[in-house]
Amino acid sequence: MASKRDYYEVLGLTRSAAPEDIKKAYRQKAKQFHPDVNKEDADAAEKFKEVAEAYEVLSDPQKRAAYDQYGHDAFDPNRMGGGFGGADFGGMGGFGDIFDMFFGGMGGQRRSGPQRGADREVRLDISFEEAVFGAEKEMEIVRVESCEKCEGTGAEPGTDTSTCPQCKGSGRMRSVQNTPFGRFETTHTCNRCGGEGKIIEKPCSACKGRGKVKRKRAINVRIPAGIDTGARLRIQAEGEEGAMGGPPGDLYIVVVVKNHARFKRDRYTLLCDLDINVVQASLGAEVEVPLLRGDSHLLHIPEGTQPGEVLTVKNKGIPHLQGHRNGDLKVRINVKIPTRLNKRQKELLASLFNEGEDKESKKGLFDKLKDAMG
Ligand SMILES: [Zn+2]
Ligand SMILES: [Zn+2]
Repeated sequence: MASKRDYYEVLGLTRSAAPEDIKKAYRQKAKQFHPDVNKEDADAAEKFKEVAEAYEVLSDPQKRAAYDQYGHDAFDPNRMGGGFGGADFGGMGGFGDIFDMFFGGMGGQRRSGPQRGADREVRLDISFEEAVFGAEKEMEIVRVESCEKCEGTGAEPGTDTSTCPQCKGSGRMRSVQNTPFGRFETTHTCNRCGGEGKIIEKPCSACKGRGKVKRKRAINVRIPAGIDTGARLRIQAEGEEGAMGGPPGDLYIVVVVKNHARFKRDRYTLLCDLDINVVQASLGAEVEVPLLRGDSHLLHIPEGTQPGEVLTVKNKGIPHLQGHRNGDLKVRINVKIPTRLNKRQKELLASLFNEGEDKESKKGLFDKLKDAMG
């Protein structure tokens, strides 16, 4: 309590602020610290509560007058000697209503208008090929929806729902206290009906009176060609259901691409390794490189290609997400050095590196070696 900030300071106002200014400042600050937009910031929820608390006091002329005169002491039951200010006020618990209003809690929904449902995020694992070529996927999503049987009321169809006798249907309870500072009126959520204003005689058998059920939904997802791990696809209106006729939130699909046995990628560049033999590397060759799609590309290996050299095949990589271009395919050459040679292969290799041979006869030797190596 000692470190409690001044309510005017919390809302960025002067003591002479008009009620409209208080309202305006509150809206702006509540938006700024709303936990939905400050998911990373653990302090935001506390700041949000602080703002809500300041508003609850300053927006009420009676409470504001008491606060102007006595500061925080006006609402501190310990310092003012027991129960002052109402049991439901002064502690953080008393601000649940404002809090609920923003989070669509059951207590808040009755008094606020239509609310958009929350956004959701789900992970989708796709194959390397699906990421490169694009795909249509069907996903099963479980979401909480209004119970169809009772239409969200929680009452078994055909049974009675009676108005709560305690709050007479308002969902709110009022208490008035006379104190040395004047008459204080506080309101809190009705504890009999939990703020619903109604009492269910027989709970709905499908949702056990909750009014909500979990339901599986099949969702078609179009994976654009060229997508990579970490991409987020937005599916409109497939998030959580809205409240009070509000629209549903959106569904975000976070893509995770599985590894491929032969191919890797670096953004839009497709990478693979290709084994060739000593003869192919020395003399050059045309070698088939199997492509991702199942077909192959006839790759020209230049004479004297070194192990680890990378050859580029233009336009055979991954399609750009935006635009019609393709990345390149980069083939890293791996020259296989034979480990077990027969006598003839050894002789041929030896004469190949004999300085005395001219180029023509070397060519002939290479051909023989090629045959000998299979
Ligand atoms: Zn139901
Ligand atoms: Zn009630």
